[in-house]
Amino acid sequence: MPDLVDDYFQPGWRTRTLECAACEWRGDSRAMTLQPHEDMSEYLCPQCEDILLVVRHPDLAQVRAAAEAGHPEALEQLALLEDYLRRQQGG
Ligand SMILES: [Zn+2]
Repeated sequence: MPDLVDDYFQPGWRTRTLECAACEWRGDSRAMTLQPHEDMSEYLCPQCEDILLVVRHPDLAQVRAAAEAGHPEALEQLALLEDYLRRQQGG
């Protein structure tokens, strides 16, 4: 079973070392193969392509909450999201 990260803004998941149950490869998410989807991203073992990590993408409420808590990446994302929403509304 892959590790599930429910809260995108929780610190540390990017650099946490995981071991692949299938081939015993060890490393963190930066060494894995990223496979982005609409609602989440999968990180695959670079050796055998087993899914090691699933990261759920944050929704607007989560981004807002993290931004209010001062999370720098959330602040950036919130600015992008609000810009995007403004343009949607403006047509
Ligand atoms: Zn593997």
